[in-house]
Amino acid sequence: MTNPSLLILPGDGIGPEVMAEVRRIIDWFGTQRGLVFDVSEDLVGGCAYDKHGTPLHDDTMARAQDADAVLLGAVGGPQYDDLDFSVKPERGLLRLRKEMDLFSNLRPAQCFDALADFSSLKKDVVAGLDIMIVRELTSGVYFGEPRGIFKEGNERVGINTQRYTESEIARVARSAFDLAMKRSKKLCSMEKANVMESGILWREVVTEVGRDYPEVTLSHMYADAGAMQLTRWPKQFDVIVTDNLFGDLLSDLAAMLTGSLGMLPSASLGAPMANGRPKALYEPVHGSAPDIAGQGKANPIACILSLAMALRYSFDQGAEAARLEGAVERVLADGLRTADLMGPEGGVPVSTSGMGDAILAALDASL
Ligand code: NAD
Repeated sequence: MTNPSLLILPGDGIGPEVMAEVRRIIDWFGTQRGLVFDVSEDLVGGCAYDKHGTPLHDDTMARAQDADAVLLGAVGGPQYDDLDFSVKPERGLLRLRKEMDLFSNLRPAQCFDALADFSSLKKDVVAGLDIMIVRELTSGVYFGEPRGIFKEGNERVGINTQRYTESEIARVARSAFDLAMKRSKKLCSMEKANVMESGILWREVVTEVGRDYPEVTLSHMYADAGAMQLTRWPKQFDVIVTDNLFGDLLSDLAAMLTGSLGMLPSASLGAPMANGRPKALYEPVHGSAPDIAGQGKANPIACILSLAMALRYSFDQGAEAARLEGAVERVLADGLRTADLMGPEGGVPVSTSGMGDAILAALDASL
């Protein structure tokens, strides 16, 4: 049997630094748990532009399509700011998402107890929080036509169109229900059915898909009320499914309940491939952090937790994913802190590789 394949795209800025720690953890799972991946590495973003004149070479795109999962660091940097829009580093990432048709974006908001003081909310509101927002990623108002800025009489008018087909809603709903089945079997769908026809259809289709998941308790909420509830008492939710625009806002809101950008992983999933695995891209939510790149200050945890998501959602290794998450929890409980996690209560300062060392030691201790 061949090993599952993993394409690694470290990208720019802190991407290669945080990915180096992930590579060590992948090696650990190979030697200690017999979980061997066929790992290959390639360029994306500014570094790909420097070498090929394009932020994503066609060969890299083809390798991503073939891989069982893709793990990406981050792209971008000030040296690329003046490039033509068509070759900006971010275009490489957008091409990956579009051509792999990654319609379901999973953004967990998990609060590790040791970091509960980092939240802007009261500790008891966020401690132990563990929710997942599923955002539709490839349709809706960011893609709908007509769009543009047009002249109407004496003034300009800016137009974007919210458009969803039944099948687009159904497939993201299905991925959210599947996820709910693996968690606490509770799903809340958010839209604005009170003022938007696309919201009415969204609610109808999610309800229809839900008939195939009788074990999941489905609820509906208007997205604005959802934003309020997320800040009031986020622990009432488990899985939330919503459209592209509301998901963009709600997932950022939920993520920040938990503290630092350096802690947040994500997954973007598409349709199942021939082997039954979904097309999948895993990446930290943060960018390339040019202000700290090359200084050993970057927090590798967001990228490491993205690997944990890959273990769980692409490779059916939920127990090993939990082992890795447990190792992260352990080092945080021990007070180890990269600079971004250093709060008023202090902690043991560690570099990027120091955090990697500690997580590897905690993995060893978990055996
Ligand atoms: P950023 O996420 O790179 O950085 C924002 C702030 O958070 C910075 O102060 C940075 O030092 C800090 N930070 C981010 N990740 C960290 C980590 N792992 N550890 C410690 N501190 C961390 O966002 P930005 O500054 O707005 O953008 C910088 C570049 O990244 C831009 O070129 C932008 O286009 C790009 N970007 C890429 C992605 C992506 O690749 N998915 C996402 C967002 C931004």
